[in-house]
Amino acid sequence: MSIPAICNEGCNEQFSIEQFEIEQMNDGVEQTYFECPHCKKRYVAYYTDPEIRKLQANIRNLGKSSQTAKGMKLIEKNKRLMNELRKRMEGGEAV
Ligand SMILES: [Zn+2]
Repeated sequence: MSIPAICNEGCNEQFSIEQFEIEQMNDGVEQTYFECPHCKKRYVAYYTDPEIRKLQANIRNLGKSSQTAKGMKLIEKNKRLMNELRKRMEGGEAV
């Protein structure tokens, strides 16, 4: 994959994201991020914890059924948990 990006919090150079890196944090939390190749500014894509990864596996297993009410509910829960985890990790307010 190759996603175009601009280093808007760092050197303002353009670059393409070739892959996401994963850093293991405390309590089974994984930080998924990418770095500007010019100034090494780190951009966090998202955080996951064991509960979230389990939920995501469930959603993947649903396949096409993820379009059902049950699937939608899991997807909503996943979004909420990821939002809460990010808030907890960054100490900021939820978006
Ligand atoms: Zn940069």
